[in-house]
Amino acid sequence: MMNLKKVGNSAMVKMYYEKDCNLDALNGKVIAIIGYGSQGHAHALNLRESGCNVIVGLRKGGKSWPVAEKDGFEVYTVAEAAKKADIVMILINDEVQAAVYKSEIAPNLEPGNALAFAHGFNIRYKQIVAPEGVDVFMAAPKGPGHTVRSQYVAGKGVPCLIAVEQDATGKAYDIALAYIAGIGGARAGILETTMDEETETDLFGEQTVLCGGVVDLMQCGFEVLVEAGYKPENAYFECIHEMKLIIDLINKGGIAAMNYSISDTAEFGEYVSGPRVLPHDEIKANMRKVLADIQDGTFAGRWIAENKNGRTFFNSKRAQLAKHEMEVVGKKLRDEMLWKNDSDLDNASN
Ligand code: NAD
Ligand code: MG
Repeated sequence: MMNLKKVGNSAMVKMYYEKDCNLDALNGKVIAIIGYGSQGHAHALNLRESGCNVIVGLRKGGKSWPVAEKDGFEVYTVAEAAKKADIVMILINDEVQAAVYKSEIAPNLEPGNALAFAHGFNIRYKQIVAPEGVDVFMAAPKGPGHTVRSQYVAGKGVPCLIAVEQDATGKAYDIALAYIAGIGGARAGILETTMDEETETDLFGEQTVLCGGVVDLMQCGFEVLVEAGYKPENAYFECIHEMKLIIDLINKGGIAAMNYSISDTAEFGEYVSGPRVLPHDEIKANMRKVLADIQDGTFAGRWIAENKNGRTFFNSKRAQLAKHEMEVVGKKLRDEMLWKNDSDLDNASN
C-alpha cells in the first residue's frame, strides 16, 4: 500500500449564505485585483457593483491594461496596486504568481492587510509564504470567470469555496465572507474548506477524471472505432460529441436522470461494459498513485520545473494533440454542422 495521506474529514461540511455575510467588513478598504483575465475581470466588476472600492494591478504594456481602463478602473502596476490596497487578490496565472509576489507584492504588504487567492496551489506548495500579521484567505468560485460575471449580472451567483489560512486580524472570516458576497457567491452558497483540501482535490479531479481521464477515454474510444475501419466522423459523434449531452443530464439530475433519458439498451451496456473498460480495482490503484504524487508534491515539483525549462514537454504534447485525427475531424464537423456551441469557452476546470 502506498503512502497516502489520511484525510480526516468526517465532520459536516459548513455552508454559508447571504445572511452570514456582511459587506460592511469591506468598508473603507481598497481591494486590488491583480490580473484582469477570466477571474480578474469578474471579481473586479462584481465587487465594484456591490459598492466596494476596487483598483486593478497589471503589467505595464500587457494586453489587459487597456481593457481594465476601458471598464473604468484605475489601473496601476502590480507593486503600486499592492501598496495602495488593504486586500490584494492574486488572479494572475498560478505559475507566475510566486515570482510576481516576491518582486512586487511582498515588499508592499503591511501588517493588517489581507492576501487572497482563488486557488490554493502556491500556498499549498509553499511557493508563496505570507508574512505573519497578514490575513490569508481563499475565495474560489467553482466556475469560470465569465460565468461568475454573467451570473452576477443576472442577479444570481456561482457557488464558492472559502478557506482562511491565516487569521492575523481576527477578522479574516468576516472579510472573506464579505468578499465572496461581493462577487455574488453568497447568493449561491459558500462551502468551507482549506487550501490544502481545495488544491489536492482540484488537481486530483482535473487530472484523473475531468481532463486527464475524460480526454484519454474519448481518445481511446475514437481510436478503437477508427482502427476497426469505422468512419472518423461517426467515431467523433459517438465517443466525443455526445459526451456533453450525457454530462448535461448528469449535471441536472444525477446518474439516474441520465439513465432515465438513455435507452435501456444503453443502460444495460453501461452495467456490463463499463467495469470491463475501467476495472475499478486497477483504475483506483492508478488514481491513488496520482493522488500520492499530488499529496507529496511530486506533481507540483514537475509542473514548476516544466515552467522553468520553457515548457518543452507541455508544448510538444499540445502540438501533438492538435494534429490528432479526433481534433481535426471534430473541427471539420463543428465548422460544417449547425450545432455550434455558443457557451463560454474558457478554462472551467477549477
Ligand atoms: P487568466 O489566464 O484568465 O488571466 C490571467 C491574468 O493575469 C491576465 O490578465 C494576464 O494579463 C495577467 N498576468 C499574467 N502574468 C502577469 C504578470 N506577470 N504580471 C501581471 N499580470 C499578469 O487566469 P484565470 O483563469 O482568471 O486564473 C486566475 C486565478 O484564478 C488562478 O489562480 C486560477 O487557478 C484561479 N481560478 C480560475 C478559474 C477559471 O475557471 N478560470 C476558476 C477558479 C479559480
Ligand atoms: Mg482546477
